[in-house]
Amino acid sequence: MIPRVTASVDLSALTHNLGVVRRIAPRSRVMAAVKADAYGHGAVPVSRALEAAGVDTLAVACLEEAMALRQARIQAPIALLEGVMSGEEAAQAVYERLQIVVHDHWQIDLLERLPTSARLTLWLKLDSGMHRLGFPLTDVPRLRDVLARHPGWTFAGWMTHLACADEPDNAFTREQIARFEAALSGAPGPRSIANSAGLLAWPQARVDWVRPGLALYGCSPLPEMPALGLGLRPAMRLESRLIAVREYAAGEGVGYGLRYRCPERMRIGVVSVGYADGMHRAFRDGTPVLVRGRRAYLAGRVSMDMITVDLREVADAAVGDPVLLWGEGLPAEQIATWADTLSYELFCGLTQRVRFRYR
Ligand code: PLP
Repeated sequence: MIPRVTASVDLSALTHNLGVVRRIAPRSRVMAAVKADAYGHGAVPVSRALEAAGVDTLAVACLEEAMALRQARIQAPIALLEGVMSGEEAAQAVYERLQIVVHDHWQIDLLERLPTSARLTLWLKLDSGMHRLGFPLTDVPRLRDVLARHPGWTFAGWMTHLACADEPDNAFTREQIARFEAALSGAPGPRSIANSAGLLAWPQARVDWVRPGLALYGCSPLPEMPALGLGLRPAMRLESRLIAVREYAAGEGVGYGLRYRCPERMRIGVVSVGYADGMHRAFRDGTPVLVRGRRAYLAGRVSMDMITVDLREVADAAVGDPVLLWGEGLPAEQIATWADTLSYELFCGLTQRVRFRYR
């Protein structure tokens, strides 16, 4: 039985992309973001591949995500980007040798209540202006005192996150980096600033550690720097197939609400993928897909299980043909713009109905 919708993940593309990141930031260690099921690519196989390729640390959002990796026998260091929410979670994190990213004083209180023998590793997250997670920069002296009080704790480093790294030349990014460095002037410990956009577009953010997610999956977060030009290879191909091909007269409507009107006599293909698989309903007419290596275009509303496509440029398209929705030749970051979203959301939006294949 051929699955309706297949996400094929090329693990060698991930390790290739890790190599690209290492070439761009040769003096930085790499913390790979594998949270959210490795951006919908499958956290266990992706983490195994990155671990085998020598990634320095993996990063997940929370304890539950980290536990799934430990249960799959992934031994690499794992950082919890949201830290811990309770003493119980803190104890479990220590037991599983996780690195806790601490962003507030109440979390320090939790850690201080652990037995002094606990072999704890922590990052300290500073808010340099994004105003999401992190201690105010003015807390650095107090945090240095905390570290001094706990010589048994392993300090992994200082972390901050950039709000506008995907806008090259953004003045606030320069400001965030400068504020972070100034607040830490003279403070011991490694530093980490850059996500994918930060490491691609901001050389001054390539400090001791970089924290790419999206770039490892082969996408660029910067429209000005396409993935192909950076040497990144998309790790995922999302494919379905044509289940019907019909010809309609000029003026006929297609799909719910008859939103699409055939401008001339033409063939319409039906592809078995819909919003129940993760194809956003917001995709507009004209969103490209590839059939037989040529472009067909969304024509009409995305429904639960199907989309309809304009086959005028693929005269020989036939029922059973595979249809590429995104992947090599059809970058997910470009496809995402047709639904006014980002490749991150397309990947994370794939549902359980999609079959995953790894090679
Ligand atoms: N670092 C932190 C703290 C994050 O929250 C994320 C993702 O949102 C990343 C790094 C990786 O970001 P990206 O996928 O844009 O490289």
